[in-house]
Amino acid sequence: MASTSRSDHDGSGDAPAESTESESALETARRQLSHAATRLEIDPSIVERLRYPKKVHEVTVPIERDDGTVEVFTGYRAQHDSVRGPYKGGLRYHPEVTRDECVGLGMWMTWKCAVMDLPFGGAKGGVAVNPKELSSAEKERLTRRFAQEIRDVIGPNQDIPAPDMGTDPRTMAWLMDAYSMQEGETTPGVVTGKPPVVGGSEGREEAPGRSVAIVTQLVCEYYDRQLEETTVAVQGYGSVGANAARLLDDWGATVVAISDVNGAMYEPEGIDTASVPSHDEEPEAVTTYADDVISNDELLTLDVDVLIPAALGNVITKENAAAIAADLVVEGANGPTTSTADSILAERDVAVVPDILANAGGVTVSYFEWLQDINRRAWSLERVNDELEAEMRAAWGAVRSEFERRDVTWRDAAYIVALSRIAEAHEARGLWP
Ligand code: NAD
Repeated sequence: MASTSRSDHDGSGDAPAESTESESALETARRQLSHAATRLEIDPSIVERLRYPKKVHEVTVPIERDDGTVEVFTGYRAQHDSVRGPYKGGLRYHPEVTRDECVGLGMWMTWKCAVMDLPFGGAKGGVAVNPKELSSAEKERLTRRFAQEIRDVIGPNQDIPAPDMGTDPRTMAWLMDAYSMQEGETTPGVVTGKPPVVGGSEGREEAPGRSVAIVTQLVCEYYDRQLEETTVAVQGYGSVGANAARLLDDWGATVVAISDVNGAMYEPEGIDTASVPSHDEEPEAVTTYADDVISNDELLTLDVDVLIPAALGNVITKENAAAIAADLVVEGANGPTTSTADSILAERDVAVVPDILANAGGVTVSYFEWLQDINRRAWSLERVNDELEAEMRAAWGAVRSEFERRDVTWRDAAYIVALSRIAEAHEARGLWP
């Protein structure tokens, strides 16, 4: 079972590693590529190129521990494809970071940026380290040394990292500072997910949850369902889940269930979502505040209109897919549905709006942050939210037209949109030399 991913700013998260019962991140990304390619008239040589990363950088990151000893870690930056713009994707600090995982998750970022029509390609990186075993000073030294080791291959026009599992806005501020010191000029656009005081964007933390809520509203509209008459269950009450639940509650939906790692609160008449602290506000408060606690497994099979898995990967599996009673599933987490479960849901006509569209608000506001940094001009929260909504509607529109035109699932439609854009760009640029 996947672990929860914190601050997965650019949204490629932890789940692809296990997005089928036993598939690696790279296998999943390649399977998704081949699957989408079969539905398109596309030059096979382009598909072949997309099966591989452009470059993978592996570096040695030695740091001095607080006790004076030196420890050496391995860091990676996998750059998958940059045909549409600079590479973009998270940096994670996790003991299980591997080269192949970075490649697979980097590919996933390529699809996510393309479905949103952002002028970015995909990348992923990290250091194989347990960040919980590092003091703050050690983490800072690790980040600065890692920044130095990958300095030549990142930059605002080259590759723009963001926070992911085990890294956060503070890590990004150190990385930006280390890079800027060496470049001799302050370069905020080298990373996104920074604290606003050094060029981070308003509305960034809330963005993935906001995009989940916007997409839920759009999919409900599509199926002629009024939000006021829609019941919603949300698994996970963290950055993604709580923001999505609160917005949907504000917009008139009835949120009947929310959960944390210990279980779920279920109130058939509707939960006052503002009164329950999110994971950030008070970790694992949902079950503390609940009168009636049900299990996370029960939450997934509640008879609601919309189910939003927003905690971790691989929660809808071949074991429970037949019991999912919701008509619509909107993927807030990365890879919450295994591929076997996906087929079962498709056969049962349960609409599943995929993660690469639904939670892409994170990377979209990262793009806004990059624009603000380059222009040295901060946007208001209102502008960020308005522009995010416009981007989500545009991406939704593109996916919806493929869905209607080709009679495929929402997931296939999203991958078709992404792959066609990438393939067209490769077609237009050609092969050098
Ligand atoms: P978070 O740590 O803020 O919150 C996670 C929530 O899930 C918490 O309420 C936690 O109690 C709950 N949880 C943990 N383990 C659970 C379990 N076994 N069963 C049920 N609930 C459990 O995390 P987040 O940032 O909201 O991320 C959630 C998911 O969304 C992850 O898959 C992540 O990769 C993905 N995602 C996050 C972002 C982002 O920027 N935060 C962007 C895109 C995708």
